[in-house]
Amino acid sequence: MTNPILIPAYDPLSPFRTLTDKHETSASPVPTGQTSPTSSTPTPTTTTTPSALPDFRELLALMMMSMTMQSQGGEESGFSMSSMMAPIMMTLMEQLMSQEVTPEETSTPTAQPTPNGLPVEGRFTQDFHPGHNGVDIAIVTGTPIQSTMDGTVIHAGWNNQGYGNLVIVENEGYRTYYAHLSEIPVEMGQTIRAGDTIGLSGNTGNSTGPHLHYEVRYNGQPLDPAEFY
Ligand SMILES: [Zn+2]
Repeated sequence: MTNPILIPAYDPLSPFRTLTDKHETSASPVPTGQTSPTSSTPTPTTTTTPSALPDFRELLALMMMSMTMQSQGGEESGFSMSSMMAPIMMTLMEQLMSQEVTPEETSTPTAQPTPNGLPVEGRFTQDFHPGHNGVDIAIVTGTPIQSTMDGTVIHAGWNNQGYGNLVIVENEGYRTYYAHLSEIPVEMGQTIRAGDTIGLSGNTGNSTGPHLHYEVRYNGQPLDPAEFY
């Protein structure tokens, strides 16, 4: 069912020209107002590149020095020369890499779609293990508990399976559980940002002392919260 006659029948130039013409006319619409925000902001040229140059020259000079020193010594010059150069090259690579990475980190958005960090600072009294689907953090009753991710509140209230006052925040496959709370200031269906207070810690449900029980689940499967902080 191939028709190779169709393709060579076209003049490759004419459709290309009409396409670009169409594009140009449609791309230049009515000029909006007198302010052009795109042209007023000059794109800052990368200041990292010039600063990297002197470093590179310094390291080159160091390399040259070590090479001449080695050749004067005269013994096994090839072998020891490369061992001298290796750490210098490593330093150079590290410097170049760190300079490239830094601007990307500053532009990272605040969105937190997966669990990250801890809901509260405190003393760990129980780790994640078979039979215990989360971690326990001992804190005085009334301590604000922060969501570790963006998401939606899918449970906010009493749970009679031992969690006591429980808040569950969901985002895609992830669910984070905050249990034994004394107060719940959020509601079902509420949109939550990472860092928002979703409850005050307490000692409700199956709890022998004031603490937070914190769980991370993915598609219903409990994960070790330690993987996320
Ligand atoms: Zn627990």
